[in-house]
Amino acid sequence: PAVAERIAAGEVIERPASVVKELLENALDAVAQEIRIEVRGGGLRLIRVSDDGHGIPETELAQVCIRHTTSKIQNFEDLEHLHTLGFRGEALASIATISELTILSRASETEMDELMQPALWITWRGGEQIQRGHRARPHGTTITVSDLFYNVPVRLGYSKAARTENGHIIQLVRRYAIGYPGIRFTLRIDEHNAVQTSGSGDLATALTELYHLSLSGLLHDILATDEQHYRIHGIIGNRVLAQNSRQYITLFVNGRLIQSRAIQDALERAYRPLLPKGKHPLLSLFIDVPPEEIDVNIHPAKTEIHFLHEGLLKEALTAALKAVLERVPA
Ligand code: ADP
Ligand code: MG
Repeated sequence: PAVAERIAAGEVIERPASVVKELLENALDAVAQEIRIEVRGGGLRLIRVSDDGHGIPETELAQVCIRHTTSKIQNFEDLEHLHTLGFRGEALASIATISELTILSRASETEMDELMQPALWITWRGGEQIQRGHRARPHGTTITVSDLFYNVPVRLGYSKAARTENGHIIQLVRRYAIGYPGIRFTLRIDEHNAVQTSGSGDLATALTELYHLSLSGLLHDILATDEQHYRIHGIIGNRVLAQNSRQYITLFVNGRLIQSRAIQDALERAYRPLLPKGKHPLLSLFIDVPPEEIDVNIHPAKTEIHFLHEGLLKEALTAALKAVLERVPA
């Protein structure tokens, strides 16, 4: 692919964790119950995500790495009625341009779903199809990305030590496991289990599994609703669980993992006076708003978000958090 194309792909895919995020979201869109992630060499050597979702029909597999052919939005209004995390149809195409990518997938049928059946695999390298074949697997999809950024020297140069990249991947997978506690997540890094959840469906259980902390009695429910504009729910940890970093704060808006300066500011204003200096709470927060009141289509890599009723939401959040934090004993 042309240099410009590789640079564009490198902007969507900033680091190995960006690949993991795209593959995870695709697995979630495919309604997986179990998602297994494997990482080697900080993700530059290998990232593999396997799911037991609905799979990709053989007739479509060759197309999924062609930009926009799979885009789920036909016109702009569709964005408001989106029920999937992906919609641009460019993540796999971008990744295929700057790595060696193999997709092995079998679409679910009714009777033989659980059985191993021949499934198609296709490998792309630098955006070109280089190989294909058949291999048995139950329904679902396995996507393997190796040699990430091999043809994007600039990105390769930016990549930090494997430890740093692994850290980003662990934080990301933990957050998705918090967002989807009903799904079993496994993350293996260089043959070691880094994340393992049971998919119990219970958020407090997922947090305990993720952080290996004894959390019983230390977690408190957050709930605030305004039927018309928002529903806020989640869990916040006691003061004793406060941490030196924001990495234990997770925010989902309408099922999407979000970073929001506005929300983070509102949160900090609420907890800052109640926690020791420099500390941040263990906090998992889910905000649901009518889809037409948010704008998430801002940048493919950074999921920033704009709310129509931002002021209202910030006030509600601050109040909800304060109410819980003031009530719990130190
Ligand atoms: P988008 O998610 O924006 O549609 P992607 O490039 O991420 O674009 O994926 C392209 C298409 O490939 C998806 O729309 C979906 O049809 C298919 N696909 C990708 N990964 C999976 C998966 N794990 N299971 C089922 N289908 C998948
Ligand atoms: Mg996608």
